[in-house]
Amino acid sequence: MKAALVVPPVRDFYFTPQRAAFLGVRTLAMLLKERGVSHAVINGVRQRGRREPLPGSLAHLSPHVGKKNFFGNFYRFGVTEDNLAAQVREYGADIIFITSIAFCYAEEAMRTADACKALMPGIPVVVGGPGPSVYPGYYLRNCAADFAVTGEAEHFMEGFPGDLRSAPGVWYREGDILKHTEAPETPCSFRPVLVPLHESADTAYYSTMITRGCPKRCSFCPVWRQFPGFRKAAADDIGEMCSPLMGSAKKVHINFEDDNVTLDFPWFHNVLETVRRCTGGNFSFSMENGSSFAVLDEEKVRVLKEYNVRQMNLSLISANPDILAENRREKGTGAFEEAVRLLDRHGIPVVAYLIAGLKGETRASVMEGVRFLERLPVLIGISAYYPVPGIEGYEDRSFFDAIPPRQCAGSAFMPWHDIDTPDLVDIFITSRRINLGKQNMSSLNIS
Ligand code: SF4
Repeated sequence: MKAALVVPPVRDFYFTPQRAAFLGVRTLAMLLKERGVSHAVINGVRQRGRREPLPGSLAHLSPHVGKKNFFGNFYRFGVTEDNLAAQVREYGADIIFITSIAFCYAEEAMRTADACKALMPGIPVVVGGPGPSVYPGYYLRNCAADFAVTGEAEHFMEGFPGDLRSAPGVWYREGDILKHTEAPETPCSFRPVLVPLHESADTAYYSTMITRGCPKRCSFCPVWRQFPGFRKAAADDIGEMCSPLMGSAKKVHINFEDDNVTLDFPWFHNVLETVRRCTGGNFSFSMENGSSFAVLDEEKVRVLKEYNVRQMNLSLISANPDILAENRREKGTGAFEEAVRLLDRHGIPVVAYLIAGLKGETRASVMEGVRFLERLPVLIGISAYYPVPGIEGYEDRSFFDAIPPRQCAGSAFMPWHDIDTPDLVDIFITSRRINLGKQNMSSLNIS
């Protein structure tokens, strides 16, 4: 049997290399290898984008695209879906797995599934990943894929290759009816993968994810609903994952994709020590998806610095205590400022994130957060709120049947609650202007 693991292109205003790790696909590749199944990753994503017309689903942004400090163009990052399907046919796959890295990119995965089915009607097509996990029925109703898989690859692969209709967490069609098997609620064990991203003249960049699930319960987040229990990779598995780094000719930089690795700090300290051992200390790291500021203290920050953290991305979410309480965030601006000042004393740069557009937020309340961050030694990151099927307030997934998935992206700046698109865009532009001012000040060495 030959399995094609297909990564569809991405259409958006921007794309960053950190988003190109496709860790789920690499995990599936590892599990197939363990089972002796021949496979190939056919990656349709390219870092350089080709301009495409703004889709109708984003027409509300046309008055803003091209404004100073906003997005300039809409792009396709990667080959076309037809080209990708032709590559799959050339490989001669017996089964096709297509990843959908987020519900907002469902269209690219569904178009890829349609293109594959048009060229290879007899070959089973399976869509999986974070998108199908939150709303599998949407994919099966809107494209020609045969199966949509929810949950963790380890569970799904338990009986593979076998009858996919009896694998856990699988959705399929029987006539016009959608049927499915239950995804197990018990957490599975997992082994992390380390994915090379790109290399500069002196540094090799990698990405990994060393936890599953999350013990926190932020209302806007699908992670804790999707992955039962909070699990951390075992020390031996971390050691095995890092062993190829031994003797690296270049400096190593690892981005931990998790946004909760600092919650169990002694465990994370051991992880960093393992990386240090394997790289001979010639390494640095980052946590692009953010880390909790609430757990930081002098000793932990000293450890982060000692192991060469490059930057801390901290999510304040909101400066409004009521909004924070509603979203089950325990600490607010006071603790945030303390953490930022502590990191600043240790010379660690900080990017601070606010979510613009949560329920109950107004333009004025988000701008209060922006003004609070303006006076701190941080750059400001604005994430426009977007819902994902199944999160709090969006448990009824049929709500998404009438909404183009592309509107469920932060870059869509949709007015989901009380802030309209022009105000969301304006908050974003204002924050970028503040950042540019701060960067200019620091390049002129003015404090
Ligand atoms: S801490 Fe991060 S991963 Fe955990 S629930 Fe909150 S947003 Fe999600």
